Amino acid sequence: MSTALWCRRCGKTEAQHDDFECQNEDYVPAQNAVLARLLEFVARCQSIVDASYGAGKRLLSVDPGGKRYARIVARDSGHTQGSVYCFVALENGDVLKSASWKAPAKGARGNILDADYGVARMTPYGAGYNR
Ligand SMILES: [Zn+2]
Repeated sequence: MSTALWCRRCGKTEAQHDDFECQNEDYVPAQNAVLARLLEFVARCQSIVDASYGAGKRLLSVDPGGKRYARIVARDSGHTQGSVYCFVALENGDVLKSASWKAPAKGARGNILDADYGVARMTPYGAGYNR
């Protein structure tokens, strides 16, 4: 695993960082950068879901637990049963489609350390298929 440091704000590595564009100097190790950006990732995905289902109809949340992956769960308003929206690898920020409730499928659909938080291929139903 790489020990690269990432800017908590723009998601670039210390080596890639443009100090003029982003004046933040708060660098964290990769895994912590993933956690720092996870809630914003979920918020952006929620906007994608809202645009399709309507605001407040289908809600995303982060399931605590898993050491290797954060599980993002989608629940219809008023329901306790949910389904997996996607997984995020805590080690490197890869966004992964679910293979089951417990495990992601192989092949990253994006990365939350990217400038757009890796949402380019997110859909109202979860991570899009690889093309
Ligand atoms: Zn930055």
